[in-house]
Amino acid sequence: MKKEVVIIGGGIIGLCSAYYLQKEGHQVTVIDKSDLSKGASFVNAGYITPSHIIPLASPGMITKGIKWMFNSSSPFYVKPRLDKELLQWSWAFKKSASSKKVERAIPVIKNINVFGRDLYEEIKASGDINFHYERKGLLMLYKTDKAGEEEWNVGQRAIKEGLAVKNLSFEEVKKMEPNANIDCKGAVYFDSDAHMTPKEFMDEMHSYLKSKGVTFYINEEVKDLSISEGKISEILTSKRKLKPDEVVLAAGSWSPLLTKKLGIKIPVQAGKGYRINVERETGITIPAILVEAKVAVTPMNGFTRFAGTMEIAGINDIINPVRVKAISNAASSYYKNLKLQQNELNDATCGLRPCTPDGLPYIGKPSKYKNLTIATGHAMMGWSLGPSTGKLVSEIISDKKTSLDLQPFHPDRKF
Ligand SMILES: Cc1cc2nc3c(=O)[nH]c(=O)nc-3n(C[C@H](O)[C@H](O)[C@H](O)COP(=O)(O)OP(=O)(O)OC[C@H]3O[C@@H](n4cnc5c(N)ncnc54)[C@H](O)[C@@H]3O)c2cc1C
Repeated sequence: MKKEVVIIGGGIIGLCSAYYLQKEGHQVTVIDKSDLSKGASFVNAGYITPSHIIPLASPGMITKGIKWMFNSSSPFYVKPRLDKELLQWSWAFKKSASSKKVERAIPVIKNINVFGRDLYEEIKASGDINFHYERKGLLMLYKTDKAGEEEWNVGQRAIKEGLAVKNLSFEEVKKMEPNANIDCKGAVYFDSDAHMTPKEFMDEMHSYLKSKGVTFYINEEVKDLSISEGKISEILTSKRKLKPDEVVLAAGSWSPLLTKKLGIKIPVQAGKGYRINVERETGITIPAILVEAKVAVTPMNGFTRFAGTMEIAGINDIINPVRVKAISNAASSYYKNLKLQQNELNDATCGLRPCTPDGLPYIGKPSKYKNLTIATGHAMMGWSLGPSTGKLVSEIISDKKTSLDLQPFHPDRKF
C-alpha cells in the first residue's frame, strides 16, 4: 500500500531511506534543519567498512579511554560532565564492553556492513546516480609490534567471518603504495573494504531524489510531534504541520531530543570527529588507518582526506585546534613527505557521530508507536550502513520480510 512517509533528517541514513522508499512507490518527504551541506554525512572518511567488526565498546577500551581522557590530543575523549544521560550511556557502554557481547555483535556488524557495501555497488551499477566508488581495500598501518599484534588478532577474527585479510611487511606495503613514502612497521590489509567521496554522493542523491518526486523541506526544524492512539498524528516544523502515515526518525545525534518528546529513551551520545582536506598531490592511492593515532586517510575524488578523533563532549561544533593538530602530526609521521599547511588546518571542520552504547544502530519500530521507524545510532559506520539501513527501513514500512534479522537493532533493547 502506498503511504505518505516523512523522514526527519537528510543525512546519509535519511537520503538512503528516501531512495528505497520512493522505489517502493511511497510518497516521501525529507525534512532537515540544515541546508544539506554539512555534518557527519559530509565530513566522514568515506570508508565502506566490512573490516570494522569490533564495536567501540570492547574489552580494553575502558582502560584506554580513561588513559586518553587526560591527554588533550588523544584520539578518544569523554568530556567529564554531570549529565544524567551521559552517565547512563557510560554505564551501558561499560556493560556492553564484555568479550561475550562483543563476540555476539561481530557477525551482526559484519553482515550489515557487507550488505551495505553490496547495495552501494548495486546503486552504482543501476546508473541512477553517478559517484566515485573504489574497491581498493584498507591498510591498517602500524608502527609498533604491539599494535601490529592487536591488529592481526582482529584480522584473524575477520578471516573466521569470511573476510580476506593479509598481514603485510613494510616492503609489501611499500610495493602497494610506492609514491607515498610511508613510515610504518607493517600493515594488516583488509581486501573487503571500499571508499567514496561523501559530499559528491550526497549531492547526487539529493538531486536524484528531487527528480523522482521526493519533497525536501530544508532549513526547517522539526519542533514537536503530536500523538494520538499510539501513533504520531502530526509533525510540527518551524514552518508547517504535516500528517503523515509513517515517520522515519533519522536525525543522527539529535534523535534523542525528539524521542524524549515521545517518552522513548534511546541512549545516543554525539561523538565529534574532524576532517582535513589536502588538495595537493600526496601520492596516497589506498585508504589507510594510522593505527596508533586512529587517523583515517582516504584518497577521494580530487583530494586526500585525513579524519579522526572521537570526542564525546555533547552537541556542538566547536573546533579544538589541538585535536586538528594531532591529526596533522599523525599524517606527517606516517607519510614522511607530507606536511599539512596552516590554511589546510584552518579549513578543518567537524561532524557528530550518533553513538549507541553497544556499537549497534537502532533500526526498527519501538513498541510504543505503530507508525514510527527509528534509524539512527550508526556511530563510526553510518556512511557504510546508509544503503543497508535505508533498504531495511523501506522493507519495514512496506510490510515486507526484512533482508536481515532486526532483533539486534531493536530500539527497545536494554544494555
Ligand atoms: C570524522 C568522521 C569520520 C567518519 N568516517 C566514517 C567512515 O569512514 N565510514 C563510515 O561508515 N562512517 C564514518 N563516519 C560516521 C558517519 O559519518 C555517520 O555515522 C553518519 O554520517 C550518520 O548519518 P546520519 O544520517 O545518521 O546523521 P547526520 O549525518 O548527522 O544527519 C542527521 C540530520 O538530521 C538533521 N536533524 C537533526 N535534528 C533535526 C530536527 N529536529 N529537524 C530537522 N532536521 C534535523 C540534521 O540537520 C542532520 O542533517 C564518520 C564520522 C565522522 C564525524
